[in-house]
Amino acid sequence: MGLKLSRWQVTRDLVARQKESTGPERLLDGSVILTRLEAAVNWARKYSFFLYPFVTACCGMEFMSVAGPRYDLDRFGAALPRFSPRQADLLMVVGTISHKQAPILVKVYNQMAEPKWVFAFGVCAVSGGFYDNYSVVQGIDTLIPVDIYVPGCPPRPEMVLDGLLQLQQKVKEERWSDWPRGEAPVSRC
Ligand code: SF4
Repeated sequence: MGLKLSRWQVTRDLVARQKESTGPERLLDGSVILTRLEAAVNWARKYSFFLYPFVTACCGMEFMSVAGPRYDLDRFGAALPRFSPRQADLLMVVGTISHKQAPILVKVYNQMAEPKWVFAFGVCAVSGGFYDNYSVVQGIDTLIPVDIYVPGCPPRPEMVLDGLLQLQQKVKEERWSDWPRGEAPVSRC
């Protein structure tokens, strides 16, 4: 089911692009597709995220829900979690990050190959949430660059899917000159 929907999305994208085109594709009756290499690579990337779930707290239950068959991340090309940061390109930070965990999060981020994206899952990852105290990092963007913020305690699966669609849009519009981002911009946590 997931695979069929995924193909449907891909076909819908291609048809929409052909309709928008004023170039030779139209004259050739849609039998060819012309594009820039950058756009083609970005199109493939946005449908093939390999996510690394950095799960620390209760938001993990909602992550399991969104990753299950009911919400079916497979439809968005993000079905396969990788448990090595070296094989992942989407770091999903799910839950509260304490200052004690911060160096580990930064290390995982630094171990991921470029290009890579970061998803703050839940208000604890976004801003520390209601843990406004000395032991909790007040937002993971104080440690590493974040691409998508999904608030909620925990966020509903629909919010997570919406965040994933926003990330796909962001990846689609990226330029290769945006990469590499380099090391996380913190030297100590
Ligand atoms: S946002 Fe809420 S559900 Fe998620 S880790 Fe924080 S306290 Fe738990």
